[in-house]
This record gives sequence, structure tokens and C-alpha cells, in this order.
Amino acid sequence: MNILILGGGGREHALAWAVKQNPKCDRLIVAPGNAGIGAIADLAAIEPTDAAAVLACVEENAIDFVIIGPEAPLAAGVADALRAADILAFGPSAAAAKLEASKAFTKEVCDACGAPTAAWARFSDATTAKDYVRAQGAPIVVKADGLAAGKGVIVAMTLDEALAGIDEIFGGAFGAAGAEVVIEEFMAGEEASFFILSDGTDVLPVGTAQDHKRVGDGDTGPNTGGMGAYSPAPVLSAAIQEQVLSEIVRPTIAEMAARGTPFQGVLYAGLMIENGRARLVEYNVRFGDPECQVLMLRLGAQALDLLLACAEGRLAEVEAQWADDHALTVVMAAKGYPGAYVKGSEIRGLADLPEDSAHMVFHAGTVLKDGKVLATGGRVLNVTARGATLKEAQERAYAMVDRIDWPEGFCRRDIGWRAL
Ligand code: AMP
Repeated sequence: MNILILGGGGREHALAWAVKQNPKCDRLIVAPGNAGIGAIADLAAIEPTDAAAVLACVEENAIDFVIIGPEAPLAAGVADALRAADILAFGPSAAAAKLEASKAFTKEVCDACGAPTAAWARFSDATTAKDYVRAQGAPIVVKADGLAAGKGVIVAMTLDEALAGIDEIFGGAFGAAGAEVVIEEFMAGEEASFFILSDGTDVLPVGTAQDHKRVGDGDTGPNTGGMGAYSPAPVLSAAIQEQVLSEIVRPTIAEMAARGTPFQGVLYAGLMIENGRARLVEYNVRFGDPECQVLMLRLGAQALDLLLACAEGRLAEVEAQWADDHALTVVMAAKGYPGAYVKGSEIRGLADLPEDSAHMVFHAGTVLKDGKVLATGGRVLNVTARGATLKEAQERAYAMVDRIDWPEGFCRRDIGWRAL
């Protein structure tokens, strides 16, 4: 098969790495990719949200299967455009991608199918929203309804923070994503992520993970896109996974099908676990980044077979094979991230690292220029390792980190601490 992956982050490098190992993959193209992906696949300089450019690339390269990595092309309807042209694609339609693109939509779906989640209300003006918040009291959670690149959520510990959050969102801080505000009950507990493939009817779990959102050791400092992750997540026991499948995921998939907008792709359930029960925090409609990196290291080549079965509506016929192992990824970011950071610094030492099925450096924000790997993003590398225990995976990952020569970069030194 000729395969096209859309995206250019660590998630797409991990997907490309797994897909490339499967003998079904003849040619692999990634658009736009990055320096690390360029070492294992051909790169196409196209914008993943540009459906016409994606279709042209598919035609020109006789692509048989398209894997859509990020949420933006899904929300923009790129999966719909591919299916309309009879091209096999992994990823939900724009209508089903609303499970990520609109928080109010997700809450309505949860209410309709009885999935446990925080109590909520939606508002389109600040005065009514503030009256509601004053009546409820803090802590309380204020969210912009639409896609805000992981921002747009204010977990307010005080009433003043909640009121300021409402002003910020309606003041246009998140553009059109903030036309509506969703206000939710604050849920206490431990957070974890559960990844489930669905072909619209059947579901197949493909792993659990936990990430570290704060920039500093001990989970301190500002929020980021994620500074590291590990899989499996010990808090998601087999019993809780079963509860999530039966009370949250299967009802959601059935509700989406009943609405005439079946969900096909990976459902990423963000969960809050308290007293042995999980409630839904949010859905995403694609793999997490950096969670995908640990899932792919654990799944390896079979990932392609699972994604294909998902896209072809054959999930009931396949199973994921799990080794009894652990994986952990450490994000290396440019100093200053998540604030302002310098772009263009050189990263040395990558070529000398062992890269095998137990260790991988997945690239996020890098480019290759004149034979040098340059950092172009905030989050730049995902140093990922596998081991028989989480501790072993952690030691392997940090041993690799220490061999990378990049004075302009930094990472957290405690990824995995909660589980360890
Ligand atoms: P979201 O983008 O909806 O996942 O929200 C981002 C983060 O805010 C989540 O990962 C949680 O840590 C936190 N959060 C969101 N909703 C709630 C809630 N209802 N109660 C407590 N924390 C929440």
C-alpha cells in the first residue's frame, strides 16, 4: 500500500515509525512532516487542512490509505473529502469531529446517552454566565466552547478567577471558539486518558496513558501541550476500563450512529477517576501528542493493521496484542517554552543514539537544513523508551536525553513520578 500521513509533530513521527515497520506499507509520505520523519518517509509540503491539496497528493502518488493525525484537518472535513473521492481514510467526519470541536456538543451527547460527566450549562452572554457562576460558587470550570489549541479552559478555584475567565472568553481571547461558554462542575480526582478505536459500530481499546501538562518538575508552573507521558496508566484498572467502555464509550458511539454521524477513528477519552469510578472530562477525536508516542512504541507494526481495520469497518475481526511492558516519553522543549523561545538552534548527537524497538527519538518541531537538525518549535523532541517496568523505561529515556547535545533545550526530570 501507499500511505499518506497528515501532520508534522511527534505524534505523526510515531505513527510513521509504526506504519513503516509493517510489510503492508510500500511507500510512505508524510505531509508536512519534520526532520525526523524525513529520515523514514518522503515529505510533501502541503497544508493538512487543505483538502484540495491533500486530494491532489493522493492522486499524484496513488495513495491507498490516508491517516489523519491532528484535529484541525478533521474539523475542516478532510476525512469527508477523501471518502467522497473513495479514498480510504482513518479519522472522523467533520460532523463526528464535533466531539472535540464543540464542548457543548459533547455534553449534549453525554446527556442523551447517559454517560457520566460533570454537570454543565452553556451561555452566549457574559451577564447570564456570571449570574450562574455566582449562584454555583467556586471551584468551577469555565470553557470556551470551540477549538482553542488546548487553551480556553479555566479551572477556577475562586469566584473572581471564574468571572475573569468569562470576560476573557467573551472578550475574544479565543476568537470564534469563544462565541459560547460552557460552565462545568469542578471534578476532583486523578486524570488519565483512554484511547479507543471505533469503526462507527464496534470499539477496540488501544491503550491508556497519563501525561504531564505543567512545564516544571513536581507538576508546577504554567500549562503546556504536554511535557511527557507514559503508558499504561495504573489508575485505569481493567475494571475501570470496562466501566468506561460500557457507560461512556459504547453509549457515545451508539448515540453518534443514531444521529446519522457515526464516529470512525480514535476516540481519546480524557477521564477523571475518583473513588474507583471514571467520569468523562472531554473527548478528543485523534491521538494525543505525546501520548501517541508511547502507544505506538508499545503497539509497533500492528498499529497499521488496527488503523486499517478501523477505516474498513472490520474492527470486530481484529485484536491488539499487548506485551506486558511500559513506555515513557520525555518532551525536550526550547528554553522559554511555553512562553517565548528561540528558534533555529542546532541539536547535535541524534545520529549516534541507538534507535530500535526499545528506544526512539520522535521529532516534533525540527527541520533539516544543510545537514543540521534545527529546532523550530516549542516542543521539539520526544525521547521515548520501553521497558519491562515503568522505572526501566524511565531510566532508558533519560539515558538517551543525556546523550543529546542541545544547550538551548530543556526537559522535566520527573516524568512518570505519579505512577512510580
Ligand atoms: P479539557 O480541554 O476540557 O480537557 O480541559 C483541560 C483540562 O482542564 C483537563 O485536562 C482537566 O485537567 C481540566 N478540567 C476540565 N474540565 C474539568 C472539570 N469539570 N473538573 C476539573 N477539571 C477539569
